[in-house]
Amino acid sequence: MRSTLSVISGLAVLALAACTAAPASTAPAPIQVAAPPADTASPAPLTVLVSIDGFRPDYLTRGETPVLNQLAATGVRGALQPSFPSKTFPNHYTLVTGLTPDHNGIVNNTMEDARRPGDVFTLSDPSVTSDPIWWEEATPIWVSAEQQGIRSATMFWPGSDFEIHGTRPSTFAPFDQKLTDFGRVDMLLSWLDAPEAERPQFATLYFDTVDTAGHLYGPQSPKTASALAQVDAALGRFIAGLEARGLRESTNLVLVSDHGMAPISDEQIMSLDVMIAPEKVHTVWTGTFAGLSPLPGHEAEVRAALIGTHPHGECWAKENLPERFAYGANPRVPAIICLAENGWRYESAEMPAWRGAGGDHGYDPADANMAALFIANGPDIEPGTDLGTFDNTSVYPLLAKLTGVEPVQGDGDIADVEAALR
Ligand code: AMP
Ligand code: ZN
Ligand code: ZN
Repeated sequence: MRSTLSVISGLAVLALAACTAAPASTAPAPIQVAAPPADTASPAPLTVLVSIDGFRPDYLTRGETPVLNQLAATGVRGALQPSFPSKTFPNHYTLVTGLTPDHNGIVNNTMEDARRPGDVFTLSDPSVTSDPIWWEEATPIWVSAEQQGIRSATMFWPGSDFEIHGTRPSTFAPFDQKLTDFGRVDMLLSWLDAPEAERPQFATLYFDTVDTAGHLYGPQSPKTASALAQVDAALGRFIAGLEARGLRESTNLVLVSDHGMAPISDEQIMSLDVMIAPEKVHTVWTGTFAGLSPLPGHEAEVRAALIGTHPHGECWAKENLPERFAYGANPRVPAIICLAENGWRYESAEMPAWRGAGGDHGYDPADANMAALFIANGPDIEPGTDLGTFDNTSVYPLLAKLTGVEPVQGDGDIADVEAALR
């Protein structure tokens, strides 16, 4: 085991690597993080937005999450209804912009844009996703914060590793899925060791372990329960680190998820190729929901074949999607959207469904399986309040209030979260 001193110097190296935007891939040893003494009697307030990807609110009843349960019991709890589509990038961008995916421009994890012919936006290709064109239909809160003189630090968040409207967080690390949960916590804590004048007042912290386990094994699996325990322990470590730095009393924590997780099976897969001949459409997405554009000359035929209800799913022209999805006006949304019934998926020969998976999301945001975690806890949060279920567009006005950022107009409503504020 490494000494405390070498852990601290390792963290300093990591912090430097992050500030200079080099990939941060080394996980510090999982031992108690030491902290220098707090440098003022009453530190400046800090808001930390924590996302546990794919965390269903009912995961709190599994007996695996003592830290989260304590935060919920002594703070504010609720459930978020994700925005359509209930996928990672669209909803993370909604949480930090207050705009639905149709309005914030991140209409799915995978996207195409007529202004960038041939480019496909995917989670794993920063050479495409780093182009500000994808992100600049909205302004994430860290950009507004920086522009208003409020320092921000992002321990991962979709969009946070790229320049948006000419601005980046003061401190960030390029996304690295290999960095362990403890490693992420330790890196953020090391950033909070900066002198008061340089310490961030808004930070993000992102965990994907629970989503990964949910996809691999399904929401009910004991392996997913282990992932819950692992992330909960990382949060315990983070809170201990805040306490050791004298920062807990001045820190508001807002813990969210982007969507839930539904059980799936290989027996519930529909072939789009049976519904429409593949040479007549460009299929942009398959999975829990599909996006297709008819190829020139086949418009009427494709629409006639797809639009309407069919066993285990329904397809709409993008301009006729149900109003509650608030989706379809953005030019990046393909002409036809098909949404599978809970537990079902679409595939095509070109884009086959993943066999052997245990869980997925992307279903109707109103489906109880898609509900997402919400907990807030800290000095500005009224303890003992249950907000019930509310739209995730309303997290942004709460963050703006807590951080003192002048917000841009969003799709959410501060009234949804006002009862959370002390
Ligand atoms: P989904 O397919 O919607 O379940 O997306 C979840 C995946 O998004 C996770 O496995 C993460 O590894 C990935 N992810 C999360 N944040 C980022 C990011 N900032 N950059 C690239 N990939 C990310
Ligand atoms: Zn997700
Ligand atoms: Zn996922």
